[in-house]
Amino acid sequence: MSQQRFGLTLDVDWAPDCVIDAVAQRLEAHAVRATWFITHLSPAVERLRARRDLFELGIHPNFLPGSTHGCTHEEVLRHCMHLVPEAVSMRSHSVYQSGSLYACVLRDTPIRVDSSTFLPEMAYIRPLEQPLPGGVLKRIPFIWGDDYELCKVSPCWDFSRLRDLPGLQIFLFHPIHVYLNTVSFAEYEAVKRRTGPLSEATAERLQAQIKSGLGIASLFDEAIDIVASAGGGAVMREFL
Ligand SMILES: [Zn+2]
Repeated sequence: MSQQRFGLTLDVDWAPDCVIDAVAQRLEAHAVRATWFITHLSPAVERLRARRDLFELGIHPNFLPGSTHGCTHEEVLRHCMHLVPEAVSMRSHSVYQSGSLYACVLRDTPIRVDSSTFLPEMAYIRPLEQPLPGGVLKRIPFIWGDDYELCKVSPCWDFSRLRDLPGLQIFLFHPIHVYLNTVSFAEYEAVKRRTGPLSEATAERLQAQIKSGLGIASLFDEAIDIVASAGGGAVMREFL
C-alpha cells in the first residue's frame, strides 16, 4: 500500500501527441509520477509506456452514447484493454459508473483499481475496498479536477489550500488544459473554434493558443511542486 499522500492523474481524452509529450516532459523534469488514463494509442502514448519508472497507464473507457470505444460495457472494456493490456486501473470518461459495469470490469478484465469517484476537496480520503461478485475493487476517489475548477464562478489559481488537506489527495488534470493553460471554458471553446478538432491540431497551431499567466498550467506546476516535495506521488497500481 502506498504511503504517498498525493497522486497526479491525467485523463488523456484524445489529446494530440504534442500535448501529451509536453505534459510528460514537465513531470519528467521533476521526477513526479503520474497515472495516465488512456483513450487511444499513439507514438506519444508509447513514449509514456516506456517510462514505467514514472508513469502508469490505465484505461479511460468511454461508455457514453456514440462512443468510439464500443456500444456495450463489454465492448468498450475489450477495446480499451486492447489498447493497454497491462492496465490494472481505470477512470471512466465523464466518471460514468454503474453496478453492472463494475461487475463486468471484475469479470472480464484485470482492472482492480478504479478512480472514477469525484469528492470535491473532501478531507480524510483513504483507499476503499468494494467487494463484488468477481473479487474486490479498490476505489480511489479524486478530490480535485481542472474541469471542476473551471466550473467555479471564480476559479482559485492557488493550490496551497489543498496542500494541507488531511487524507489522500488525487488530482485530475486534462493534458489539453495544461498545455493551453486554460483559464475558462469560454476561452477553451474559442480555441476550439479557431483551431478545429484539437485531436488533429498541429503543435504550431496549438502553440499560438497558449495563454500566459495564471491558469491550469500554473496550477499543474504548483501541483508538481507539492507532489515532488512530498516524495513524488503515487500511481494507481500502488493501491492494489
Ligand atoms: Zn475523459
